[in-house]
Amino acid sequence: MEYKIAVAAGDGIGPEIVEQAISVLERIGEKFGHKFTYENVAVGGAAIDCCGDPLPEESLEVCKRSDAVLLGAVGGPKWDSLENAKRPEKGLLRLRQSLGLYANIRPAVLYKELADACPLKESIIKDGIDICVVRELMGGIYFGERGQRQGKYGAEAFDEECYSEYEVERIARSAFEMARKRRNKVTSVDKANVLESSRLWRRVVEKVAAEFPDIELEHMYVDNASMQLIKNPSGFDVLLTTNMFGDILSDEASMITGSIGMLPSASLGTEGVHMYEPIHGSAPDIAGTRKANPIATILSCAMMLRSSFNLSDEAQAIEKAVEGVLEKGLRTPDIMSQGMTLVDTVQMGEEIAKLI
Ligand code: NAD
Repeated sequence: MEYKIAVAAGDGIGPEIVEQAISVLERIGEKFGHKFTYENVAVGGAAIDCCGDPLPEESLEVCKRSDAVLLGAVGGPKWDSLENAKRPEKGLLRLRQSLGLYANIRPAVLYKELADACPLKESIIKDGIDICVVRELMGGIYFGERGQRQGKYGAEAFDEECYSEYEVERIARSAFEMARKRRNKVTSVDKANVLESSRLWRRVVEKVAAEFPDIELEHMYVDNASMQLIKNPSGFDVLLTTNMFGDILSDEASMITGSIGMLPSASLGTEGVHMYEPIHGSAPDIAGTRKANPIATILSCAMMLRSSFNLSDEAQAIEKAVEGVLEKGLRTPDIMSQGMTLVDTVQMGEEIAKLI
């Protein structure tokens, strides 16, 4: 069977990590007899440079007619001074919106081999960390009204957080369905003690919960959630939250599992073409130095194989190979600890491919 993948490598470390992910996919193709074809698309800063637009129409068309999209990362200081609509990140937001990608699934797992890279005490992580963040991706403050105006104290700016019942209902359903495949618990994170949008969020989540009597639901304020992630991370199973809270809390979850370079994500939506991307950004501080950890992108490919192509054995082969390199003691600088063997981006990708 042939699978068409649109590849948006993007900026900074994007092309370096995507290259390794593709070599791992190629190895999977070889071993299991699949053909993956790749079409490169310009998105983000690279697209601004080549076409003057962070999401050229042609890129979007290629993504829409693919079976899945693999994204590296976008953005960097070179484009930071551009006006909002022309910035690289805007291209990514438009891509997510155009593909109807409303559910961002971010598993955060602490590998036992990386316990040293986890900043939490042994007594806190003894029961392991295995959290699945389900983040709403197409609504909230990142897509709300924004602007600048003159206020009482002079110039001011505003960004609006707005959620419809429909938007909350569909993401809540994704979270409850995910919990059924895991440990049957959803923690819904909001700020309902202050925000009207959070009060609606909570009400709708409770309505959806009634359809899932087998799933335990707890509500948690976002400030408490950020504390509990550090104090009792094994208390979380599925963490359901808004676009902005999910953005922040999943970075925190990534740090307690060792490194942001380890965490993959899948963005699932209404149009049938889903996107897979590491949760980190373009890391301009290490771009071109071969220090980037490609594992988040490689694990994103495993999510692609499982969710978009229904290839569970192949996905598992990637996950096992990642565990295998960690067991062998291979580490990129972000997860390096004493006694381990330091490898660069390319070596890490090659070693993972070899173990498949
Ligand atoms: P970042 O995630 O790029 O980097 C944060 C820190 O983590 C840096 O120290 C970086 O070196 C490190 N890091 C990130 N990925 C790593 C990896 N694979 N291996 C090793 N270390 C890694 O976040 P930032 O510095 O806030 O943002 C840089 C740029 O990326 C900005 O332009 C931002 O807008 C953009 N960004 C893009 C995305 C995306 O494309 N999805 C997400 C977040 C940020």
